Amino acid sequence: MQAALAMQIVTAALGAMMLAIIWSLRRCGLPGVGHWFYANLAAALALVLFALRGRLPDGLVIGLGNPLLAWAMAQMYAGVQRFCGRAPPWRALVAGVLALAAAVALWHFHFDDFNVRVAIVSVFHAALCAACGWTLLRARLPGRAGGHYVTTAVFALFFAAAHALRGALSLQAALQGPPGASPPGMHILFLLLGALAVPALTMGAVLMVHDRLVHRLELIANTDFLTGVLSRKAFEDEATRQLARAARGDSAPALLLLDIDRFKAVNDNHGHAAGDEVLRAFTAMARDAVRPGDRIGRLGGEEFAVLLPATALEDALLVAERLRARAEAGRVDGSFGSLHYTISGGVAHWLPGESLARLTGRADAALYAAKLAGRNRMLASATPAAARPATAGSAPAQPRTPQPH
Ligand code: GH3
Ligand code: MG
Ligand code: MG
Repeated sequence: MQAALAMQIVTAALGAMMLAIIWSLRRCGLPGVGHWFYANLAAALALVLFALRGRLPDGLVIGLGNPLLAWAMAQMYAGVQRFCGRAPPWRALVAGVLALAAAVALWHFHFDDFNVRVAIVSVFHAALCAACGWTLLRARLPGRAGGHYVTTAVFALFFAAAHALRGALSLQAALQGPPGASPPGMHILFLLLGALAVPALTMGAVLMVHDRLVHRLELIANTDFLTGVLSRKAFEDEATRQLARAARGDSAPALLLLDIDRFKAVNDNHGHAAGDEVLRAFTAMARDAVRPGDRIGRLGGEEFAVLLPATALEDALLVAERLRARAEAGRVDGSFGSLHYTISGGVAHWLPGESLARLTGRADAALYAAKLAGRNRMLASATPAAARPATAGSAPAQPRTPQPH
C-alpha cells in the first residue's frame, strides 16, 4: 500500500509538470491543446482523490475518482481528434463516462467487486488509448517525415495493450476468485501504467505541438506574406540547392528575373491597395503558367525570380515570353477599377561552376537591358556562348551596376 501511495504521488507530480507544460502552450492556438490541459487537470484531481483513499470516504474516492480519470482520457482523445482536424464524438464520450460512473457505482455500492470495477475501467481506457493511436496513425502527414504522430501513437497503443491486459486479468480474477480479491502480483504495476497513460500521451502531444509550431514558423519564414510565393531567403536556399545538384551532373537550370513595369505609377495613380492586388494577380498568373517543379520567389518590391530546373535557354525564353504575354493580356479588377500591367524580364542559363550571385547578376543585366529597350519584353543574358534577345530588335544584355528598385 505504501508503494502504491508513493507511486500515485509520483504520477500526480508528473501530471502537475505536464499540466504546467501544456499550460505554457495554450497561447499557440493549436486545436487540441485546451483539451489536453483539461485532461491533465482531471487526471491530477483523480490521482489526488486516489491518494487520499483511507482519509476520505471510499464511496467518494471510487465514485468520483474513476469517472474523473475516465473524463481525463476522454479529453485526451478529444484533443487528439481536434489536433488531427476532426470533431470529437462528444455524445459518445459523455455517454461512455456516464456509463462507466454508473457501472463503477453499481459494483461498489451494490456488488462491491474490485476486480469487476478494474475490468470496467480498464476496458474504457484501453478503448480510448487505442482510438487515440488509430486516429494518430491515420492522420500522420503524408510525405512529411516526423510530426511525432507515430511516437504518440506508439505510446497510446502501448497503454491500450496494458489496459486491455489489466482488464482481462481482472475479469479472470472476478470470474474465478471471491469478490474483491486482487489479481496476484501485478496490481501495483498496472495501477502505475493506468496513471501514467495521460502524462505519457501528453508528452507525445507536446512533441506534436512543438513539431507543428516549428513547421508553421518555417512556413512563415519561407513564404512571402503578400503573395504566397517563396520569400527571398527560401528562394535563394532552393536555388543554391539546385545549382549544387547541377554541379553534380544534373541538367542545368535557368533563372528568370521579372519586374513589373512602371509599378510606382500603379501605386501613385490607383493606390497602394491596387499595387498589392497587381502583385497578387501577377503571382497567381505566374504559378499557373509554370510547371509544378519550378520555383517562384519574391526578391523584393515588384521584382520576382523563377527558377526552372533542367531547362535549356530556349525553353526558358519560351516560359518567360508566356508569362509576359499573359501579364499583358490580363486585367486586374478591384474597388480601384480595372487596370492592366506589363512585365519585363531577364533570362540566364546556368554555366558550369557559376555561383548563384553571378547567375543572378547576368539575369539582372538582361532585365535592365529589357527596361532600357522599352519594357514589356524578355531578354536573354549575354554570355560568350549564348546572347540573344527573345524579342526582335533588342541588343544583348550587358552586366550593369546595381540600380535601386
Ligand atoms: P520600372 O518599370 O523601371 O521597374 O519602374 P517601377 O515604377 O516599376 O520601379 P520603381 O523601382 O521605381 O518602383 C517600385 C515601386 O514598388 C516603389 C514601391 O513603393 C513599390 N512597392 C514595393 N513593394 C510594394 C508592395 O508590397 N506593395 C505595393 N503596393 N507597392 C510596393
Ligand atoms: Mg518595376
Ligand atoms: Mg523593381
